[in-house]
Amino acid sequence: MHAVQVTRHGGPDVLGYGTIDDPIPGPGELLVRTGAVGVNFIDTYLRRGLYPSQPPYVPGTEGAGEVISVGAEVTAFAPGDRVCWCDTNGSYAELVAVSADRAVAIPDGVPDEVAGSSLLRGLTAHYLLDGSAHPVAGDTVLMHAGAGGVGLILTQLAKRKGIRVITTVSTDAKAELSASAGADHVLRYGDDLVAQVRELTDGKGVQVTYDGVGASTFDQSLAATRLRGTVVLFGAASGPVPPFDLQRLNTEGSLSVTRPTLAHFIADPDELAWRASEYLGAVADGLDVRVGQRYRLADAGQAHADLESRATTGSTVLVPN
Ligand code: NDP
Repeated sequence: MHAVQVTRHGGPDVLGYGTIDDPIPGPGELLVRTGAVGVNFIDTYLRRGLYPSQPPYVPGTEGAGEVISVGAEVTAFAPGDRVCWCDTNGSYAELVAVSADRAVAIPDGVPDEVAGSSLLRGLTAHYLLDGSAHPVAGDTVLMHAGAGGVGLILTQLAKRKGIRVITTVSTDAKAELSASAGADHVLRYGDDLVAQVRELTDGKGVQVTYDGVGASTFDQSLAATRLRGTVVLFGAASGPVPPFDLQRLNTEGSLSVTRPTLAHFIADPDELAWRASEYLGAVADGLDVRVGQRYRLADAGQAHADLESRATTGSTVLVPN
């Protein structure tokens, strides 16, 4: 089969494309022909060596496609079923062996490219709202990168819960997108961001700040959050947040900071099934997943370069030839 490989740690140019042996599904596994492969920030952190990884390896954790055979002991799926997944290594490939208890059936009417490029971001948005923090109707939240893949989904899910949403974006086009997803107020990054958030919240700040940008926004995230509020630091698109003095949480308002990761909110197969059915149910019910970029599998390097240079909006998908 054709697959992408990370040949060594480095920039997008370390992604090679060629042929390798087909995977053979073991007991409890499905062999899936991929129709769509998701590109996520974590793929870039692993490629650069920011998170541990051992080249050479086939990158990617997310995708969707058709089951073409099943290993021993698989009863929940059969050839012909459409499935998606978000925590299976080696997904930038034409064929992927997926553990049956990590696979999720795709509802009718949801295209492969939507499921295969948004399950990871959708489940992340789901646990950010119901897991790592618990904003309720009437609360105001701040989320950075409102036109990004997570941002657009998180905004829509938050609005469905009656939560007021303030987002940040870097360009006019992104501002338009974030507003169309339902953001109540779309702001620009900058020195007066905290003052603007305070003005929109009667001087108090927001109940929860969702920060997937990291180094460049974290200080403002703390300052924009109200007394006893929560900052959910869930990513490092601009780089990791340097170590900081916990005493700041006291002086900035008895704040809580949490640094969650999706894996810990879907480790239990029942929790994965619950979050996936709520997320994909919302998609089938009209939640708009914007697939902003499509690339051939062979062009994975370009997809990484665009994601890392802020040139993308919504989700990014690789299409196997
Ligand atoms: P996005 O589509 O949101 O892309 C990242 C966005 O961050 C950019 O488009 C850009 O939007 C903004 N940004 C601000 N500064 C920078 C910078 N210096 N370099 C690059 N981007 C910057 O990505 P995803 O939706 O895939 O992921 C969003 C974040 O969520 C990532 O940090 C990712 O790692 C994290 N994540 C965390 C998970 C978890 O469980 N912890 C799971 C999934 C994702 P703008 O130009 O508007 O500023």
